[in-house]
Amino acid sequence: MHTWIKIDKHSDFSIYNLPFGIFSETDNVKRVGVAIGNEILDVYAAFEVGIFKDLNFDVSVLESDYLNDFIALGKSTTVKIRTRIQSELCNTNSILKTHPSVFIKQNIVQMHLPVKVGDYTDFYSSIEHATNIGTMFRDPDNALLPNWKHLPVGYHGRASSIIVSGENVHRPKGQVVLAPNTAPVFQASTRVDFELEMGFIIGRSTKLGYSVSTDAADDYIFGKVLFNDWSARDIQKWEYVPLGPFLAKSFASSMSPWVVTLEALEPFKTVGPAQEPSVLPYLNFEGSKNYDINLEVAIQPKNCTETVVSNSNFKYMYWNMNQQLAHHTINGCNLNVGDLMASGTISGKSSDSYGSMLELSWAGSKPVELTEGGTRKFIQDNDTVIMRGHCQKDGIRVGFGDVKSTLLKTI
Ligand code: MN
Repeated sequence: MHTWIKIDKHSDFSIYNLPFGIFSETDNVKRVGVAIGNEILDVYAAFEVGIFKDLNFDVSVLESDYLNDFIALGKSTTVKIRTRIQSELCNTNSILKTHPSVFIKQNIVQMHLPVKVGDYTDFYSSIEHATNIGTMFRDPDNALLPNWKHLPVGYHGRASSIIVSGENVHRPKGQVVLAPNTAPVFQASTRVDFELEMGFIIGRSTKLGYSVSTDAADDYIFGKVLFNDWSARDIQKWEYVPLGPFLAKSFASSMSPWVVTLEALEPFKTVGPAQEPSVLPYLNFEGSKNYDINLEVAIQPKNCTETVVSNSNFKYMYWNMNQQLAHHTINGCNLNVGDLMASGTISGKSSDSYGSMLELSWAGSKPVELTEGGTRKFIQDNDTVIMRGHCQKDGIRVGFGDVKSTLLKTI
């Protein structure tokens, strides 16, 4: 495939990608865009010059605060729209070529949260992460709880505090216990952490009472984003028994602005880890359901260069998205377009591939060195946490850009 748009070969936004997002210019009117190289194609403007004229869909969804209505058109339509954009960007006689105003430079726009998230679920699906946490806090010989290999453990998270890359986070306050068997005190968290995660966005609703099989799951997933599930480890440690994460997680989670479609990720499917013991029939699946997506996390202190502290990969996930979705709906729980399912922290086997500071610094016992001097056990005020992700194969690159937020001092 060859496009007439000039794109750097290291760009995440190649002609094979074409992710969707919501952007605005100085007029503050939010609309649907597609990233291509350093540019954004204004999809409504592309409609106005006529490239979709034979596709019958409600164009009002292109001038919207969120992608939800666009996604709700269904893959039968959104795949056609994306494929049409791809062929126009490859066609040297395309009408888009004579209408340069349909393109806007990415560096002059404001990106917004791409979807209005109705419900947000966070899984705990990396075996390396779950093993590390179990080893640190419970029993190294019995790190995984008895249910872990039988179902994708998850919890219902908070949707209201999901923010887009570029928005910042204030250090949360809460109850923490400073020494074993002492009463809690109220203070700002001293153990604010990131969690390297990816999220997938639900593209098709279900009715209450119905389930989605692992086979059908792909039809219900619109696309994926990078996701930083900010966590306050000291608050978490005290509050999480017996019902799981609460205020240690709900203060903020950061999402990347571009939603990479499942179709763009298709060439990067790969085999996941063997699952032993075998799973119950409703969690069985056929074919390769993992994705080879390189991930990295960097910490950038104020006025300093960044240090990459982790290199991981989405392919390490023990439970895949199809299994997560099958499990989520097996009780009849309904899905809505725009729901977000996050993977849980994505850790690899080696100690430089762990997806949280909790693991990288091994609960604060091994400070992580920064390139410009200094160390980190957890995130300090005015540190910026940057996550990036991309797939690369046979000269084809499909990437996510980044998700970036600064931790500000407590309010
Ligand atoms: Mn998480």
